[in-house]
Amino acid sequence: MAADAPASNDPEIREAVARLCASFPGEYWRALDRENRYPSEFVAALTEAGFLSVLIPEEYGGAGLPLSAAAAILEEIQRAGCNGAACHAQMYTMGTLLRHGSEEQKRRYLPDIAAGRLRLQAFGVTEPTSGTDTASLKTTARREGDAYVVRGQKIWTSRAKHSDLMLLLARTTPLDQVAKRTDGLSVFLVDMREAVGRGLTIRPIRTMMNHATTEVFFDDLRVPAENLIGEEGRGFRYILSGMNAERILIAAECVGDAKWFIEKATSYAKERVVFGRPIGQNQGVQFPIAKAYAHMRAAELMVREACRLYEAAEPCGAEANMAKMLAADASFEAANMCLQTHGGFGFAEEYDIERKFRETRLYQVAPISTNLILSYLAEHVLGLPRSY
Ligand SMILES: Cc1cc2nc3c(=O)[nH]c(=O)nc-3n(C[C@H](O)[C@H](O)[C@H](O)COP(=O)(O)OP(=O)(O)OC[C@H]3O[C@@H](n4cnc5c(N)ncnc54)[C@H](O)[C@@H]3O)c2cc1C
Repeated sequence: MAADAPASNDPEIREAVARLCASFPGEYWRALDRENRYPSEFVAALTEAGFLSVLIPEEYGGAGLPLSAAAAILEEIQRAGCNGAACHAQMYTMGTLLRHGSEEQKRRYLPDIAAGRLRLQAFGVTEPTSGTDTASLKTTARREGDAYVVRGQKIWTSRAKHSDLMLLLARTTPLDQVAKRTDGLSVFLVDMREAVGRGLTIRPIRTMMNHATTEVFFDDLRVPAENLIGEEGRGFRYILSGMNAERILIAAECVGDAKWFIEKATSYAKERVVFGRPIGQNQGVQFPIAKAYAHMRAAELMVREACRLYEAAEPCGAEANMAKMLAADASFEAANMCLQTHGGFGFAEEYDIERKFRETRLYQVAPISTNLILSYLAEHVLGLPRSY
């Protein structure tokens, strides 16, 4: 890591991130938003400072820090008004390779990912027809000699245009030939630099926020068999094993967003004078801010608990899911409150509130929607009957 991003000390990491983010103020993000442009300069600065490789073990060139360090980095990015969605996946997508890849694959890719020479931040799971029901995905990978031939389509493959590699989930054994629906899926590392124009097409999708998301088409794309991660047919398990980390980190981002909204609203409520007194003197204005603060703090504690369990290698599925749900709810509640506190000014671009409002809304749906979290808790924690 660069000198500016010191070891695993939480306050020091937070200060270093805040210093870096200060060079990327609201005007920077507003201009990108207007032009629907990727924050290349911001991502390059984070890469250079070593923040995106903190989870990669030292033996592969990373900092080897625990998940809570990554959570602190992403939280601070959001708290500063920046948007980590442009690059958060570079931090954790490599986890599947790290846990399930061969030693040869790890040596081949991880040091370059750690150094920022190789970008692995595209994750191809969701498809247009299967949606949340991952096991019914239609993209197939058929073995032909020393390669797999991939055919199908993914949607919402974020950052595919700004990534060299994609982690792809595809079906290698037809659904009617497997004992369990989640069997027969495999994970591949697709080198998109070689693939674009040779069976891989990437089309950007414009969304309500500037998110660099795409749809991706596979038209008999040949992927070398050596790019299969782990064992053929066990890919669903490999992807699942990375999801707790993803949920915890996105939850940390939501906590950062909530803090940004609460800080903005609080200072505005102290300054804005209407009817001869600060609007923040009215309890009708104070209470929503105080409530958003209480909900943010509760979510923050759940993020910490999920991190603690994850770092102790204990089961943390319930806590990771609850952290994601509570934090996404807290950030959107804070966003709504902040907009309301600002009255008409909240809708003006220059306050950044409407932009952050649009950005944080995503986390009610992605990477997993609130309903699916509730049904996980109902079934797996409370023992209620399975609903789907
Ligand atoms: C901007 C953006 C970026 C994304 N980035 C990525 C990415 O990089 N890689 C990737 O693979 N995916 C990505 N996604 C996809 C995201 O994970 C999915 O959109 C999300 O999981 C929901 O799937 P869906 O859109 O197909 O909704 P659907 O599965 O069609 O669900 C629609 C609605 O119905 C509800 N629903 C569905 N089934 C049930 C049920 N049984 N019970 C109760 N409610 C139900 C859902 O909660 C949801 O609200 C991204 C999405 C967006 C919008």
